[in-house]
Amino acid sequence: MFSGLRGPAMTFTYLIPDGLDVVPGHLVRVGLGDRATRGVVVAVDVPAPEASLRAVDGLVHPLPLLSAHQLALARWIASYYRCGLADAVRAMLPPALAARARGATLESARSERTEAIFAITPDGRRAIDEPVRLGARQLATLRALAAGAVTAAELGQSGGSGESAKSLAARGLATVGRHAVRRIPTELSLHEDDVVRDLPLTRSQAPALESIVGSLGSGGAFLLHGVTASGKTEVYLRAAAAALARGLGVIVLVPEIALTVQVVGRFLARFGDRVAVLHSALSAGERYDEWRRVVDGVCDVVVGSRSALFAPVARPGLIVVDEEQEPSYKQESAPRYHAVDAARALGRIAGATVVLGSATPRVATHHAATAGELTLLRLGERIADLPLPPTTVVDLRLELSAGNRSTLSRALRSALVRTVERGEQAILYLNRRGLATVILCRDCGYVVPCPSCEIPFALHADGRLVCHRCGKWRRDAPSACPQCASARIRQLGVGTQRVEQDVRQLLPRAKIARLDRDAVARKGAHAVAYERMRSGDSQVIVGTQMIAKGFDLPGVSLVGVVNADTLLNLPDPSAAERTFQLLTQVLGRSGRGDVGGRGILQTYLPDHHAVRAAAAHDYETFAARELLDRRRFGNPPFGRLVLLQTGARREATVEARAARLAAELETAAGDDAEVLGPAPAFAAKRAGNYRVQLVLRGPRPTAVLDRVRIGSEWSVDVDPVSLLG
Ligand code: ADP
Ligand code: ZN
Ligand code: ZN
Repeated sequence: MFSGLRGPAMTFTYLIPDGLDVVPGHLVRVGLGDRATRGVVVAVDVPAPEASLRAVDGLVHPLPLLSAHQLALARWIASYYRCGLADAVRAMLPPALAARARGATLESARSERTEAIFAITPDGRRAIDEPVRLGARQLATLRALAAGAVTAAELGQSGGSGESAKSLAARGLATVGRHAVRRIPTELSLHEDDVVRDLPLTRSQAPALESIVGSLGSGGAFLLHGVTASGKTEVYLRAAAAALARGLGVIVLVPEIALTVQVVGRFLARFGDRVAVLHSALSAGERYDEWRRVVDGVCDVVVGSRSALFAPVARPGLIVVDEEQEPSYKQESAPRYHAVDAARALGRIAGATVVLGSATPRVATHHAATAGELTLLRLGERIADLPLPPTTVVDLRLELSAGNRSTLSRALRSALVRTVERGEQAILYLNRRGLATVILCRDCGYVVPCPSCEIPFALHADGRLVCHRCGKWRRDAPSACPQCASARIRQLGVGTQRVEQDVRQLLPRAKIARLDRDAVARKGAHAVAYERMRSGDSQVIVGTQMIAKGFDLPGVSLVGVVNADTLLNLPDPSAAERTFQLLTQVLGRSGRGDVGGRGILQTYLPDHHAVRAAAAHDYETFAARELLDRRRFGNPPFGRLVLLQTGARREATVEARAARLAAELETAAGDDAEVLGPAPAFAAKRAGNYRVQLVLRGPRPTAVLDRVRIGSEWSVDVDPVSLLG
């Protein structure tokens, strides 16, 4: 039985001709209809459905491309997330495979970029002692070569050069060759402090590492719960070294490479060429090449986003998921798997140790650890006992009644001024980009909407109106209301660009950087903004959650949250949790150096438990309160969710369709789940489609799906991370 590399989410059955040794995981050539295609064998010895089967034409590659544990994981995904096995198998293979398997063979990784390398000859050594016919640069080059320099860069460090090495080679004093260089993007090739790997572990790191290492080979699941800068990454690195020493492969998942450059860079620095990096910013060809290195066994450490879990590591022994709380671990198209749950499934299948790391684990993960499903490892304090930043909560309602209409409260303004005066740095965080979130008529209430999505257009500093859902934009904001012609059409709501303007006004001489999705549209902008802060060139950075991750800036002594509540009022079961996580993460950027640090949280909801617990750095209190709320409503982990969504051009069509399915589900549900909805999806209109959703919530919602036929016009999301799609 095999599944195609492209095409429908189906499997097909073929005959294996005598003499052809085919096992599951092999890539084979077959005829399908009147064309030749390729597919992956998912099972052999299956009962033949009919007599006249076509035969497999041949193997594309002598070795199986998917190992037994990968196929088992594909089966688990297909059954748990209710998708086709072919969808799950395809997710495990690089998208370029179909193209690279065009002939009867599979291309190997493309020849890599090469650079010139040099070595000294015996004549060259003699020439050092009688340097009559050598220039100063040539002599320096020869000396560097004699001391072991190889590349032009190394020669340059001791006054030599690649050019003079070439001229020496022409005279027989040196030899030239070429060697392959890995295409590691410059922003990833960070320098690591070599001493760290030899430093003694802290008193909480040591037992955590010991438990993880002790489980290698036999499997186990851990939650490494450690505040920011408590040394989690160092634990991953040393556990990885221990796994490699036992001949086991390592998979490390990070939420989004661009935002976690530091973690990836440290793996590259420590394990060098053994590391394959797999992430979405790679071209299809580059992904294929990295994948191929893992297939060939050249790389046995894989670092990457979500789908790196499917890398063909031969004997996975350690699987790390850093920042396990990140919603980006959920894939939002079929197969809609969650990488944390899939990692735990792979751990069980392959006998690998799974480590979930976080400063703010999801309360469901925390609950699983207290229930004994995961072993809890705590890193309670920051390295060098740096204190967490004392944080003040500012009530924005009082600012308004005191007549302050700026985005910055009086407390935040004076803290900013003092911080910059002292030569320190500040981070200002806001979860919305643009200048204003709405253009609203003060007379008739008209809001300028995106024509496709019917949500308000946001105003940007360049004067454009931009839809933050579909990206559509138009050039100019109207100067009069299109509905009532009033001139009192104003901007409302605050975005990062507005905050940037307010800071510029407050601190005209400071250099201010901004980092949000508009800013990173330029390639490498994230790294540039980080570098400008790191070098002290900028004093203040304003940004969205992009600044909440990976920014390790010792000069930052102030973090200001411009509005802590932007997510809190959203109708989603994890709104409070996401708020707590983001606030904790962003506050954790303060006080990472010797200058100490503080935080200021501006909010209209100063009594909300997520805001209070984040300001107090009190995870336990937050989790206890949050779990209480979850239990009351039967939300995860006390019940499971399935989200069903559908869309159509006409509103009446979706409404009728949803009412029909809701009725069927109600009849079938019994005690397994309750049916919530139908209700308009949060994105009630997208790209011209009206969208409606149904939610199943209860102890066994997927059992209900078994009893009702759900058409392909519905998307089925098991364990959704959000109901706001
Ligand atoms: P986290 O991943 O929890 O944010 P890191 O592993 O990045 O923490 O550690 C924070 C900082 O402390 C890093 O600069 C790291 O190099 C350093 N560090 C980690 N472990 C130790 C140790 N045992 N001794 C000294 N420094 C350490
Ligand atoms: Zn109007
Ligand atoms: Zn839109």
